[in-house]
Amino acid sequence: MADTSGSQKTEDCIFCKIAAGELPAEIVYKDDETVAFADINPAAPVHLLVIPRKHYTNVVEAAADDPALVGRMLTVLTRLAGEKGLLEDGFRIVCNTGTRGGQSVPHLHFHLLGGRSMAWPPG
Ligand code: 5GP
Ligand code: ZN
Repeated sequence: MADTSGSQKTEDCIFCKIAAGELPAEIVYKDDETVAFADINPAAPVHLLVIPRKHYTNVVEAAADDPALVGRMLTVLTRLAGEKGLLEDGFRIVCNTGTRGGQSVPHLHFHLLGGRSMAWPPG
C-alpha cells in the first residue's frame, strides 16, 4: 500500500486554503469532508470543482488511503448535477491526474461540467 502519510496540508496549496476559508471561492456545497465551489475559469456553463478537505495530491493517493471517500465525492458530484438540472441532458465528471493528465492543481479535485454538449475524445 502506498505511504500517504506525507499528504499534509501545505501552506502553498490553494485548494487547502479554499477548504479552510483562507482564500475566497464561490462555495456551492460543503460538509465535514468535502467542499464544492465554482471553477474560477469556467469551461462550461456549469463548472464546479469538488475537493476533499484533506490534502491528497491526486485520486491515486486518495483511492489508496480512503476509497470510500472517493465514492462519497461521486455522490456529492451527482447530487450537485441534479441540483444544477443536468441529469436529463447529461454532464461530465473529469479528474485530471498528473502531468500528462493535464492536472494543474496538485490537490485532488473532480470537475463537474455541464450545460453544453461535450466533445470526445478530450484534447
Ligand atoms: P486541473 O487543471 O488541475 O484539472 O484543474 C484545476 C482547475 O482549478 C482549473 O479549471 C482552474 O480554472 C481552477 N482553479 C485554479 N485556481 C483556482 C482558484 O484559485 N479558485 C478557483 N475557484 N478555481 C481555481
Ligand atoms: Zn491541498
